Amino acid sequence: MAARPAPYLDDLNPAQRQAVEALDGPVLMLAGAGTGKTKALTARIVHLMSQGRARPNEILAVTFTNKAAREMKTRIGRMLGETVEGMPWLGTFHSICVKLLRRHAELAGLKSNFTILDSDDQVRLMKQLIAAADIDDKRWPARMLAGIIDNWKNRAWTPENVPAAEAGAFDRRGVALYQQYQTRLKELNAVDFGDLLLHVVTIFQKHEDVLAQYQRWFKFVLVDEYQDTNVAQYLWLRLLAGGHRNICCVGDDDQSIYGWRGAEVGNILRFEKDFPGATVVRLEQNYRSTAHILAAASGVIEANKGRLGKTLYTQGADGEKVRLIGHWDGEEEARWIGEEIEAMQRGTRGLDAMSLDDMAILVRASHQMRAFEDRFLTIGLPYRVIGGPRFYERMEVRDAMAYFRLAVSLDDDLAFERIVNTPKRGLGDKAVQTIQKAARSNGLGLVDGARLCVSSGLIKGKGGKELALLVQGLDRWHAQVRDEADTHVELAEMILDESGYTGMWQADKTPEAPGRLENLKELVKALENFDNLQGFLEHVALIMDNETEESEAKVSIMTLHAAKGLEFPAVFLPGWEDGLFPSQRSMDESGLKGLEEERRLAYVGITRAERLCTISFAANRRVYGQWQSALPSRFIDELPETHVDVLTPPGLYGGGYGAAGMAAASPVLQGMAGSDLHQKAADANVYNSPGWRRLQSRSQQRGMAQPREQRNVTIDLEAVSAFAEGDRVFHKKFGYGAVQGIEGDKLDIAFDKAGSKKVVARFVVAAAQ
Ligand code: ATP
Ligand code: MG
Repeated sequence: MAARPAPYLDDLNPAQRQAVEALDGPVLMLAGAGTGKTKALTARIVHLMSQGRARPNEILAVTFTNKAAREMKTRIGRMLGETVEGMPWLGTFHSICVKLLRRHAELAGLKSNFTILDSDDQVRLMKQLIAAADIDDKRWPARMLAGIIDNWKNRAWTPENVPAAEAGAFDRRGVALYQQYQTRLKELNAVDFGDLLLHVVTIFQKHEDVLAQYQRWFKFVLVDEYQDTNVAQYLWLRLLAGGHRNICCVGDDDQSIYGWRGAEVGNILRFEKDFPGATVVRLEQNYRSTAHILAAASGVIEANKGRLGKTLYTQGADGEKVRLIGHWDGEEEARWIGEEIEAMQRGTRGLDAMSLDDMAILVRASHQMRAFEDRFLTIGLPYRVIGGPRFYERMEVRDAMAYFRLAVSLDDDLAFERIVNTPKRGLGDKAVQTIQKAARSNGLGLVDGARLCVSSGLIKGKGGKELALLVQGLDRWHAQVRDEADTHVELAEMILDESGYTGMWQADKTPEAPGRLENLKELVKALENFDNLQGFLEHVALIMDNETEESEAKVSIMTLHAAKGLEFPAVFLPGWEDGLFPSQRSMDESGLKGLEEERRLAYVGITRAERLCTISFAANRRVYGQWQSALPSRFIDELPETHVDVLTPPGLYGGGYGAAGMAAASPVLQGMAGSDLHQKAADANVYNSPGWRRLQSRSQQRGMAQPREQRNVTIDLEAVSAFAEGDRVFHKKFGYGAVQGIEGDKLDIAFDKAGSKKVVARFVVAAAQ
């Protein structure tokens, strides 16, 4: 191919050009967010091709996600002015390794048509091995073993070379089970995700000829997001680039956010040692974000100790300051963001009208998505969830919904099949077949089939007992739905408890378990917006049917992790509260490692925004119908004040109360004047919200001390939820009544209409006398 004019070089700055044009030998581009690393990497690929240095299929280019790979292909095509075909080796580590492994499967003891297990299959297989080894899977759950083995694979440890220091893992049986697991996978002609890399690395290490063949074939190796590679990926790259050393890695140590999954930021820091004589290019000009946004992000990341430190500047406009707003609770936050998005769409926020495609909501934890999904469905705002299932498609949510469906209708066979052995009741495939047979031959539904199997002794032993309990439970819950004996929220909680489903996840020690429990809490919380279970189930059925046209513009909702490398004109960052972001786990940990990773995540979040960045927090999140007060995130304190605007949305909260007005009105709020940002936000918003005002008037009515605040923002709600005899209360289902007695968390209440009842305290609110 002849050299030709290179328009794609024209819109690069000199440092980027250097990284693009230094074709031979190792190159490292280590630079902050939005400085054009990905852009330069893409231009480099184009340059290699147009200079005739490599054919498209001789270039190995690794991106972090499939989406990023697709985007890069499109951009290359645009730069070349033609469609690129034949870049088979541009993709994620996993997608590239699948191809390599199919070609050399026999060297790993597999056939080339091997299957790739998902994490559920993986766990199922481990359960079998654990049972066969006679290990108590309550104490030593399969998911824990899965986590350990994944971790070892990320470090490129085969069963033979797991270091001795790990011998204690999984009750000292971890390594042996790992060995058995690998053997079993081979028998099944299957691999898991971790194997894709590990097998290829092992093949390269054992078969020099194969390695040499690829070292010759891939003339150039390029890697984006290098800061998040794990050891196995790192070894793989070193092996492949070991001959010619034509490797170009780009990354940002400040954006290393996958430490929890085995990524080693050290890989990028030692690049120059691994590849002596490397050309190191630093980029400092940010092209993505306005000055205020960039300064806010830089202010936050500066608090991290373990970093190289970089300067970033922009020649762009100052733009809007980062906006900060506090809300009373998570629902209010979702409502406000929905309205903001609609306003921005109309162009009424001082900016031109924006397409929904230009806006994104980036959350720390996936359970935060539920409030947004529900709100957007209610107001008909199109959205997409990127990088994961939508809330109601998650496994634990579907399991729980199956229980609710059965409580509403005992005829729901699909729901029954789903939960009959979840949690484990010793009812395997055989038992389920027996139930199905009994049901079919008697013209019954599965629940009645199960009833028959129990009464006729067709299913005996532990399974039989458990099945009897399940059927009894279903009958009881069904009767409760029919008789409306409890509120549907209480009932839902009860079902999840009594069925053992919540307990199953509580006992689960894997990293995903807390997230699943959070999702269950979210689910119960969602129920509060409906009158009964039936209405809720209909709502969800409609949601699931709400697939919109692909071409329609939509707001994107995703986790901060999934947002890496992406950019949007407007970004919302909700839930900046201690315990949520930074996560509780990172705060509980000794040392700063976890917290610093969370801070990098904050930096990634802010730097996704081009023109408008809105951070929000809620003073309260409702969990199981119970208020939990939250402190604003410590990262909010770290935002440089001069680059932040604290918002007071007039109208939304009824208006009329300014911060000063509130402070004057309340003795508690006086003397609270501080300089902290969260303080100001709280003054301006939280204390001006209907929730706060309700709380205030409630406690005033009852002659109680004003609710106290911790760090001036959190409100101690216990003080007001503690009832006294004689208090008037209101219960969603039973109406008004008076407290007659108190027993632990239960109240004896004489309801005006419903008579005397015992109810859980958190399900009633104080009413006026
Ligand atoms: P991240 O660290 O977030 O992955 P990055 O360093 O990879 O960011 P890019 O995504 O490549 O940055 O670029 C950020 C934005 O800046 C893109 O919109 C890109 O088109 C633009 N950009 C990059 N370099 C230049 C340049 N030299 N001139 C104009 N725009 C540029
Ligand atoms: Mg990038």
